[in-house]
Amino acid sequence: MKTYVKILMLSLLAILLVFTASVPVSLVQASAPSEAITTTNTTLPLSPEEEATLLAMRVEEKLAHDVYATLYDLWNMPIFLNISQSESRHTASIAKLLSAYNIPDPVDDSQIGVFEDPEIQKLYTDLIAQGSVSLAEAYEVGATIEEMDIMDLEEALAETDNADLERVYSNLKNGSIHHLSAFSRAIENQTGIDYIPRLMTTEEYNQLTSSRGNRGLGKQR
Ligand code: MN
Ligand code: MN
Repeated sequence: MKTYVKILMLSLLAILLVFTASVPVSLVQASAPSEAITTTNTTLPLSPEEEATLLAMRVEEKLAHDVYATLYDLWNMPIFLNISQSESRHTASIAKLLSAYNIPDPVDDSQIGVFEDPEIQKLYTDLIAQGSVSLAEAYEVGATIEEMDIMDLEEALAETDNADLERVYSNLKNGSIHHLSAFSRAIENQTGIDYIPRLMTTEEYNQLTSSRGNRGLGKQR
């Protein structure tokens, strides 16, 4: 019986393979000129806006990583370590896109808290100053960064229809929603006061954090 099932499955698989192998190839050969095939497989250049946004997101994800790594050194709370590791993956996924599109990477990951852009450098310094005041303020810094990140990623998603960019930005946005929920819960546990969003509207905040809850535990990003 077992062998019979196995053979049946193998023969079904063989049939499937024959069909999937032959049908699309013949369809492509019949209808699509070779030019069109190469175009769909080629990485199209990004628009200047897409490129500028990608570069900005590379820096923004590094900023998040560096702030959390520094706040972890200061407060020794695992939330900062866990989320800084997630930000490492985020900024690396942007670096990978930059490389795929032959855009020079402006970021040196080895230097924590060092930024080329004086405005970002000042933002980093200000966020660390705020996060040094108290643990509650350190969590507030985290929540503010995540709100900023979500809003920037939403803008980035709105300006592109490039599938590579959309996939990475969507992943990063989901990660940020998860991080924002974690920081706002930490603030509420620490202060006993409901989190008040600083950059986005309360309505948007509620919508984002409740839709995340509806998906259950989801993936940790
Ligand atoms: Mn991130
Ligand atoms: Mn984040």
